[in-house]
Amino acid sequence: MNYQDLLVEHFLRYSAIPSQSDATVNTLPTSEGQLELGRLLCTELRQLGLEEVEQDSNGVVTAKLAGTRSGNAIGFCSHLDTVDVSLSPKIRAQLIDYQGGDVILNVKENIVMPASEHPELEAYKGQRIFFSDGTSVLGADNKAAMANIMTALHIVQQEKREHADIYIAFVPDEEIGLRGSKVLDLNKFRPDYAYTIDSCALGEVVYETFNAATVTIDIQGVTAHPMSSKGVLVNPILVAHDLMAMFDRRQTPECTAGKDGYWWFTGITGDALNCRVSMHIRDFDKDNYQKRKQYIKDCIDKLQALHPRAVIKLQIEDVYENIANNVSADDAPIARLYAALDSLGIKARTYAMRGGTDGSCLSARGIVTPNYFTGAHNFHSRFEFLPLESFEKSLQVTLKLIETA
Ligand SMILES: [Zn+2]
Repeated sequence: MNYQDLLVEHFLRYSAIPSQSDATVNTLPTSEGQLELGRLLCTELRQLGLEEVEQDSNGVVTAKLAGTRSGNAIGFCSHLDTVDVSLSPKIRAQLIDYQGGDVILNVKENIVMPASEHPELEAYKGQRIFFSDGTSVLGADNKAAMANIMTALHIVQQEKREHADIYIAFVPDEEIGLRGSKVLDLNKFRPDYAYTIDSCALGEVVYETFNAATVTIDIQGVTAHPMSSKGVLVNPILVAHDLMAMFDRRQTPECTAGKDGYWWFTGITGDALNCRVSMHIRDFDKDNYQKRKQYIKDCIDKLQALHPRAVIKLQIEDVYENIANNVSADDAPIARLYAALDSLGIKARTYAMRGGTDGSCLSARGIVTPNYFTGAHNFHSRFEFLPLESFEKSLQVTLKLIETA
């Protein structure tokens, strides 16, 4: 069986198990599907001859393939969940021989991917490409990584390739604040360095991510009958309005790109007595990130002075930090990644990712974890797609990293 067929077989098996995470749930993992997928992976890891295979009570799967030679212990991490963007949790992946033009994803529901709006398709004319049926994401984020890792282990074992120790971690709930990698037990995952395979197109390399915080502001007003409310009533919704007016309307996700940070108001709920405002802070620069947090605190002080009878509570929670806070370009794991791409003739396309990965968390916890491409495009969209040639290149990178560890 050739490597592409192996990848296809693995990817179809993992994508058939719905494993969307659910931000409203407080248990770990946040969905039953992630446990089911983890159980399947444990079975396969054992069949492949890995040791210390375990699924813990948080749904985190860890395993070790003991080395056949000395060298650096290398780790690979992928996430079990797919993102919830209000599309179906059920994924029906289909392989399409793409010959150019629009892609008909779903005849029955008339879902078409227009080539005019997706010029990135053009480069893959004549290739076999995985698409969803248009009712869901494809889930190459991150099941392409899972298939990549499991296929690599399969090849290493089948072809009896020499390797140093290899550690594997499959973590839940990455999409809702890297919850799984935060509780990953580092007594069970002990590589010298690791990789996530969680960015997009061929050649992508990421070791810069956002610093990220979630902010919640709770405002309690004062209710009164409008007939006698002058100087009495405090409307929490208008207090929230004053707060939002203190932020630069141009520092938002829709108005920024590249290495600019932003504020992102993500929720507002309110009534006559209470109002809650939710927002995200994102910034690549560590100092600017701290300044943004301070700015919010100052705003709240001003707001409180403006509305002395409102009760205003602020919560700021750090969610993840920039990998580059803990890593530099000449660190060995990054140099090895570039060398792997180079030896395979793949042009590296390094960029600062306007998001986070499990590597943001793991690097902060002491395991340098850069990130490379799955080969897919349009993560978090019904138009997510995965060309097989790029998918296979991503597998080749994994095999090369194992070889050179
Ligand atoms: Zn991902």
